[in-house]
Amino acid sequence: MGPLSPCIAGNVMTKLEGGCQCGAIRYEVSLDLMGSGACHCRSCQYSTGGGPNYVALVPTPGFKVTRGQPKTYVRPGGSGADVTRNFCGDCGTPLWSRGDLPFLPVKVGSFDDPSALEPGVHLWTNDAPPWHPIDPGRPAFPENPPRP
Ligand SMILES: [Zn+2]
Ligand SMILES: [Zn+2]
Repeated sequence: MGPLSPCIAGNVMTKLEGGCQCGAIRYEVSLDLMGSGACHCRSCQYSTGGGPNYVALVPTPGFKVTRGQPKTYVRPGGSGADVTRNFCGDCGTPLWSRGDLPFLPVKVGSFDDPSALEPGVHLWTNDAPPWHPIDPGRPAFPENPPRP
């Protein structure tokens, strides 16, 4: 995770939990996060209703759904590979995505406690609307960061 690893904000403890707004879907995280970030791409704007997607990067083996079955929506991501967006079919909360990466971007707002999950990097700033602020104190990439 070259470009993202310096962005991990402290040593975030393991065994984080989260889920959707209505409680139908629950998940738990059992491995340390690989980072956190904000994706400003157009698809994420649809998914959030306007802002970027704030996500924590959860190593795929450390992620487990403990209740319910999310609905999914598949479309090509920035790399051209399919990205599957998972969300609650009852309350509509965006939850996590699955793509061709060794981690799942899990929406920060779906964690029981999002307070420690400050984004360490900004992605796809090319797609951000001109009125949206981007933290000048964090690395920012016009599209995806280069892969290590
Ligand atoms: Zn729900
Ligand atoms: Zn995005």
